[in-house]
Amino acid sequence: MKTTKPHAVLLASPGMGHVIPAIELGKRLAGSHGFHVTLFVLEADAASVQSQFLNSPGSDATFLDVISLPTPDISGLVDPSAVFGIKILVMVRETIPTLRSRIAEMEYKPTALIVDFFGLDALPLGGELNMLTYIFIASNARFLSVALYFPTLDKDKEEEHTINKQPMVMPGCEPVRFEDTLEGFLDPNDQLYREFVPLGLVFPTADGIIVNTWDDMEPKTLKSLQDPKLMGRIARVPVYPIGPLSRPVDTSKTNHPILDWLNKQPDKSVLYISFGSGGSLSAKELTELAWGLEMSQQRFVWVVRPPVDGIAGTAYLSVNSGEIKDGTPDYLPEGFVSRTHERGLVISSWAPQAEILAHQAIGGFITHCGWNSILESVVSGVPMIAWPLFAEQKMNATLLNEELGIALRSKILPSEGVIAREEIEALVRKIMVEEEGCEMRKKVKKLKDTAVESLSCDGGESLSRITEECKQYRLEQQVSCMARGA
Ligand code: UDP
Repeated sequence: MKTTKPHAVLLASPGMGHVIPAIELGKRLAGSHGFHVTLFVLEADAASVQSQFLNSPGSDATFLDVISLPTPDISGLVDPSAVFGIKILVMVRETIPTLRSRIAEMEYKPTALIVDFFGLDALPLGGELNMLTYIFIASNARFLSVALYFPTLDKDKEEEHTINKQPMVMPGCEPVRFEDTLEGFLDPNDQLYREFVPLGLVFPTADGIIVNTWDDMEPKTLKSLQDPKLMGRIARVPVYPIGPLSRPVDTSKTNHPILDWLNKQPDKSVLYISFGSGGSLSAKELTELAWGLEMSQQRFVWVVRPPVDGIAGTAYLSVNSGEIKDGTPDYLPEGFVSRTHERGLVISSWAPQAEILAHQAIGGFITHCGWNSILESVVSGVPMIAWPLFAEQKMNATLLNEELGIALRSKILPSEGVIAREEIEALVRKIMVEEEGCEMRKKVKKLKDTAVESLSCDGGESLSRITEECKQYRLEQQVSCMARGA
């Protein structure tokens, strides 16, 4: 096809927390930067929210070419008890041969391949099939720095962090405390460590790294990543901040029962509680949270999932689980729903989160600190209570609480014990009705203003640079094609 329009192929790894930002990046490239975009997703369980979201008429993704690839059977490759991060990594790895043949047979030859953190094994397809390659970090610059820096540590420094539990000191960045470090970087004998730590070494083989953040959100870390004397020396390729890329509010979603209920509540009076697309609490944590909410006497919308003792992200690949029938589910304190029904809604599985957070009745958000949830909260000006569970969520919580001052946090980490109902009650009251919450609301609003500004200049500028690079590459592709007489 003789066109200079660059063609980007995006590979989204499974899980809504990965699919949603990939869709948003695709929309941005197609909408504002003139790309043709093909988005590859894994055809997860047909009944999952993922496929409903991609297939529903008028959904956000309708103007992208969305191709679903068969979900590979990984049962013989991964222990069924493995954490979801390993399952996702292996699923994507097993998909690469199919992806290769689907790209090779495309008539409109792709200019660029964009993969996320779990798709790094697909990067060599760039060289094989003549495409530029970009890594899309749907998380933040701090996550990127840790993932890049950790595998470059010598044995002594690595042990200082993993065994002596000393903070990791990266050039030009805030030190990362041991307890905040990435979940997979804790135990060298663990499969997560063996699989994920070496991935950081692959980053410099791409043509660039796109990260979903902006200057005012992470000024120090971004500066370091872009400075060739600091973290830029480790990254070795351009780092493009394009954030905040977050799901826009669907204004046509007006008659959803949760939004109807919110319409009847006073401004800033409702606390929203959600642990993302797959986060679960233990039975004891659920009980304490329910009591803490009830004791706080505040209004709430709570997306609740049945308890899982052990691995907090177990539901990540099956977001539809957990129907709530009439009455109180047996994993919440007896009578909880009827006692709180005047001021609270308990929802199963999936809620229209972006729309809920943007509603004027929302005054606070208890979040597991998934990056998409954080961005949605910031762009809606909602202060948070950080309740990190897994992956990079603890370092995200530290950023929100200690550096930006836009979230409260319990004195104990979930891994250290169960947060007691009295502390939850106090945190909820603080964020919803006390002075501290008011101050945080002001700070988050200021950050929201910088987000709007960044989208109109820096984020756009980063993508414009990528666009130019891709257009140039497309021209070169066409010239070499003509030279070969194709
Ligand atoms: N989400 C939603 N409804 C829900 C739960 C999650 O719309 O009930 C969306 C949420 O708005 C966000 C994404 O799913 O866009 C979750 O991504 P995040 O990075 O916060 O966490 P993860 O699910 O990856 O742990």
